[in-house]
Amino acid sequence: MSSPEDRLAELRDNLAAVRSRIAQGCAAAGRSEGEITLIAVTKFFPVSDAALLAQLGVTDLGESRDQDASVKSAELAALTGVAVRWHFIGRLQTNKARSVARYADLVHSVDRQGLADALEDGARRAGRQALDVLVQLSLDPQPGAESGPTARGGGAADELLRLADRVAASDVLRLAGIMAIAPLGGDPDEAFGHLAEVAQRLRESHPAAVIVSAGMSEDLEAALRHGATHVRIGTALLGRREPQFR
Ligand SMILES: *Cc1c(COP(=O)(O)O)cnc(C)c1O
Repeated sequence: MSSPEDRLAELRDNLAAVRSRIAQGCAAAGRSEGEITLIAVTKFFPVSDAALLAQLGVTDLGESRDQDASVKSAELAALTGVAVRWHFIGRLQTNKARSVARYADLVHSVDRQGLADALEDGARRAGRQALDVLVQLSLDPQPGAESGPTARGGGAADELLRLADRVAASDVLRLAGIMAIAPLGGDPDEAFGHLAEVAQRLRESHPAAVIVSAGMSEDLEAALRHGATHVRIGTALLGRREPQFR
């Protein structure tokens, strides 16, 4: 275990390196850094790391499991009082949606109508006026291998746009954009190029749906080339760590 001072220094270095990759990636793509939101993915890491990141000015944090996220969001608020935005980025079971709707500021992984319905119900029960969500496009070439409308073809895009229409019709959910994960071992430029086309189609029918959540530690430059507005960075910021199961 490193001391909090060592860990803070490590996170500060990693953050500087990631910010510099974002700056260079934006410059190469002719984009402005100010367009990009960096989400630090704190999954598998303790709330103390989330607090240090908040101290370093990272105010967007991502989690992929409700069990961890619900605890950390409450603990961090108690620890620091710093207002951070919580991004729920993982595959979400319908029976966890009510919990997520209590603390999430943006749910990235809405991949089916049943989940949208459950989040809407949860947001209402939590007394929220609105809950921002993204629809998740599956970029996985193997049907059924991942969440979201399967298959790379037009079918997945059409299905996603239908889901988006239904989300947009909700009086509680706010359709804020689109999210995708590049398939493991595939070409991220091809995957994110396809995402950019679908994001464009989404904006044609829903002009306010401007968020494009794409890019992780390995492929953030490719995501920036294809219009990502939100990058989700875990390993490059926090290091490698085995999943800890409670
Ligand atoms: C874990 C995770 C990330 C972060 O991935 P790294 O490769 O560690 O940067 C981003 N997005 C999702 C959906 C994740 O589950």
